[in-house]
Amino acid sequence: MSTASREIQLAARPHGEPKPTDFRLAEVELPDPGPGELLVRNTFMSVDPYMRGRMNDTKSYVPPFQLDRPLDGGAVGEVVVSNAEGLAPGDVVLHQLGWRDHAVLPGAHTRKVEADGLSESAFLGVLGMPGLTAYVGLLDIAGLREGDVVFVSGAAGAVGSLVGQIARLRGNTVIGSAGSPEKVAHLVDDLGFDAAFNYKDGPVAGQLAAAAPDGIDVYFDNVGGEHLEAALGALNRNGRVALCGAISVYNATEPPAGIRNLALAIGKRLTLRGFIVSDHFDRLPALHAEIGPALRDGRVTFRETIVEGLDQAPQAFIDLLRGGNVGKMLVKL
Ligand code: NDP
Repeated sequence: MSTASREIQLAARPHGEPKPTDFRLAEVELPDPGPGELLVRNTFMSVDPYMRGRMNDTKSYVPPFQLDRPLDGGAVGEVVVSNAEGLAPGDVVLHQLGWRDHAVLPGAHTRKVEADGLSESAFLGVLGMPGLTAYVGLLDIAGLREGDVVFVSGAAGAVGSLVGQIARLRGNTVIGSAGSPEKVAHLVDDLGFDAAFNYKDGPVAGQLAAAAPDGIDVYFDNVGGEHLEAALGALNRNGRVALCGAISVYNATEPPAGIRNLALAIGKRLTLRGFIVSDHFDRLPALHAEIGPALRDGRVTFRETIVEGLDQAPQAFIDLLRGGNVGKMLVKL
């Protein structure tokens, strides 16, 4: 007996900003799970900026999405049928077959979620891939030290909001940039940033210099472009940059302008280091051990922007790239 499901397919490769017509909602019949497999009913799916790169037909660190095929990405769901050892109906699992209501997949491709009082959605955000990105990027890649002044762009998003809070928990001074007055207020009032500014209010370099008169020691880059140039100007000697994302150019249709002041890295003895979170899953237990308790006792807060319904997933993705989210952008299925 097959299972009726729905999935979002890539109907066209976006040119510039994605449009609703680049996506299609399709009804499909799923086969019964075979030996070792599960039928999962998805409850939350993640939309993430990296998915924009996968919509282009270019070689990258993850293969591109295929036209007329379903998209995929992080999701959590409830096991409905299990032929996999160690998993039973009712268990909640984390897996990579999002953008669909139901999924049939090997149990070995899932990880059981022990939510322990937290929402299962946290495992797509603060305790999942974005949380690990913040943790590894700040502590391992940028090598956060006592006394560092930290600047993070995209600070009100999933990754940025945890970067700032980890720095704050460790006693560092933290400055954030975001794209609206509401987000700036959220950073200072709710997340405890020492200073924050709206990058749309004027040149980033001037606003960063005003917020950090003695310069910065660490820049966590989610944005690239003008933000990266401004940070290079503000970094102190032996400063470190974690190159995490470059969302300001994800929809670019022409090669973006270069970083004009890169030569500053020489005299200032800067380290700029790119990283991909999937190389660092061995650090997941450390993230859970440190941030799990901090979430439960309120030392870390984590916002989610939750959109309802699979049919709204393409718009949620479009809105994510436009800054429509505070914290983690999720679709509830
Ligand atoms: P966010 O939750 O931060 O959402 C994206 C945010 O980017 C939007 O809310 C918007 O906020 C901001 N933004 C959009 N356009 C611009 C622009 N032109 N200039 C400045 N900000 C912009 O997403 P994530 O936390 O999931 O990801 C943050 C970054 O980290 C992304 O670049 C992503 O690709 C990267 N990443 C990298 C990983 C790695 O392994 N290296 C893993 C995971 C994420 P606003 O309103 O402030 O503009």
